[in-house]
Amino acid sequence: MPSSSAASPIVAAAGGSFLVESRTPDEVFTPDQLSEEQRQIAATAERFAREEIQPRIAAIEAKEPGVLPPLLRKAAELGFTAVDIPEEYGGMGLDKIGSTLIVDHIAMLASFSTALGAHIGIATLPLVWYGTDEQKRRYLPKLATCELIGAYGLSEASSGSDAMNIRTRAVLSADGSHYILNGEKQWLTNGGIGGLYTVFAKIVDRETGAEEFSAFLIEQGTPGLTVGAEEHKLGVRGSSTCPLVLQDCRVPKENLLGEPGKGHHIAFNVLNVGRFKLGVACVGGARLALGQMIRYAKDRRAFGKSIAEFGLIQRKISASASKLYAAESMAYRTAGLIDSRLAQNAADVEPSKIPRIDVPRIVEEYAVECSILKVYGSETLSLVSDELVATMGGYGYVEEYPAERYYRDARINRIFEGTNEINRLIISGWLMKRAMKGKLPLLAAIQRVMDEVTQPPAFGTGGAGGALARETALVEAVKRIGLFSAGVASQRFMTTLEEQQEIMADLADMICHVYALESALLRARKLASAGSSKAAVAAAMTGLLADEAMALAEQAARRVLAACGEGDALATQLAILRRMARFTPADAVALSRVVAREAIMLGRYPA
Ligand SMILES: Cc1cc2nc3c(=O)[nH]c(=O)nc-3n(C[C@H](O)[C@H](O)[C@H](O)COP(=O)(O)OP(=O)(O)OC[C@H]3O[C@@H](n4cnc5c(N)ncnc54)[C@H](O)[C@@H]3O)c2cc1C
Repeated sequence: MPSSSAASPIVAAAGGSFLVESRTPDEVFTPDQLSEEQRQIAATAERFAREEIQPRIAAIEAKEPGVLPPLLRKAAELGFTAVDIPEEYGGMGLDKIGSTLIVDHIAMLASFSTALGAHIGIATLPLVWYGTDEQKRRYLPKLATCELIGAYGLSEASSGSDAMNIRTRAVLSADGSHYILNGEKQWLTNGGIGGLYTVFAKIVDRETGAEEFSAFLIEQGTPGLTVGAEEHKLGVRGSSTCPLVLQDCRVPKENLLGEPGKGHHIAFNVLNVGRFKLGVACVGGARLALGQMIRYAKDRRAFGKSIAEFGLIQRKISASASKLYAAESMAYRTAGLIDSRLAQNAADVEPSKIPRIDVPRIVEEYAVECSILKVYGSETLSLVSDELVATMGGYGYVEEYPAERYYRDARINRIFEGTNEINRLIISGWLMKRAMKGKLPLLAAIQRVMDEVTQPPAFGTGGAGGALARETALVEAVKRIGLFSAGVASQRFMTTLEEQQEIMADLADMICHVYALESALLRARKLASAGSSKAAVAAAMTGLLADEAMALAEQAARRVLAACGEGDALATQLAILRRMARFTPADAVALSRVVAREAIMLGRYPA
């Protein structure tokens, strides 16, 4: 497989800075600027999905023994499981855009993507980032080839979201050679096929009783380790999900991963990448479902014509395509951000110290973008799967066709890697913390908007100022509404704002829409200036997204303001909001038809 090195002038902007700065199209990475090598990576992944995964779907879903692990090993032969492993440990050390392309284009069956995603992400990265040289030499080459399949055990029966509250405990043996673990882990993806488990437990000091949250590498077959029965799930039925029982499980001291007491850094930092990869897998899944929606709509006839000719079916296609376009644009923009930050650090560091680049810290810089992609991507996939079922009518509801499976499979993405509720709290909470630490000039931006709100807005004429001028103005308006709402909420609740979860979630939704719409817009502008044949459809999708973002922002802001004030003060703030949110809507019917007709003509996702 080729490497995916890309030379591009992408700006390694600070995480979350999209809220307070404006970028030009050249400064962000978009899928349209993939190199020939990168396109080959995507094509190889797509071919694998078609030739290797598709014929085995029924067998994987039925959990036939001996199907999934050999298929993972086959994927490993093409390097798909070695992407994030450094070359010196048997990996490929591919950049983030390269690994994004694989996760995106291998999407054919959610069960396979779940198994692969857990293996290459949350199960392998803890070792890549925090392992000792000896641990890496022992395990990484086997993880790269899938001789060992990885699993990640953080959740327990009584603590999923509340991960710091785990009950599994570890004590050092009297001779100091082993940690003895007791507890029960729940829901391990790849649990039943795993060869190496990254397990989180609190080390208890025998004398003081002090507890340190820590991570351990546990091999299958370790005395005291038992894998429980497979869960029977709503979706991703072909993936393995099992509990893990640790009963006086003796883990060699050398298998402590990272430092005692730092396990939560490991657990949470890898989740940033886990969320990113999950969002990308949702993009791939949504593209697959949309393709089926379009093809079915073209073939199915009712009332003497193809149902693709009906406006309401076209609206399903265009709404699905637009959300997918936004999610895809965010995914590749974020991958480009991470890659350019890594490249910048490599340039700043002496060559001899390059292996010491703090990758987890660099990825953590983009924690908010990763959470946004997770939330927006998973909700896009749910929408597209639902619209696929709707488009297929009764055929969407029966097992004979894949729509029913897509619908069931989509739901888990809003639960694992941090539920979407938790991720919404992370999005607004993380930005607020960064602002308080002075790492992001968010407070100054909020203050600026609060000072400016009495001035009339500089947009709203609808269409003046050239192509995509309306959408450009709407991105800025949604940002201003978000900042204004955050300002009002901060003034009202100050340090207790995080306790107002409904407000935090509304702020998070506005933030998600800013990143989604801006990413879509910058890509559409890039396509327009390149004279691309996709420019018109990209502009139409951006127009639809802009109206949706504006409507959502206004509604969310209204709720936030009403929760923060009353009487004259509220009336004044609502008047300010009305002025900020004044805009001329696009003709969404016409835009929807432009998008749908292009998709129907091409027989696929049109961007
Ligand atoms: C198929 C599958 C595979 C999985 N794979 C893995 C894996 O490989 N490794 C692993 O460690 N775990 C895994 N999990 C576990 C998964 O990450 C958890 O189920 C998830 O984090 C939610 O935790 P919970 O189930 O305990 O729900 P809870 O945390 O009890 O949440 C229940 C509800 O309460 C909400 N909630 C909880 N806390 C808050 C709060 N503070 N504020 C507002 N709302 C809140 C949640 O959003 C949710 O709606 C998997 C789960 C499934 C179903």
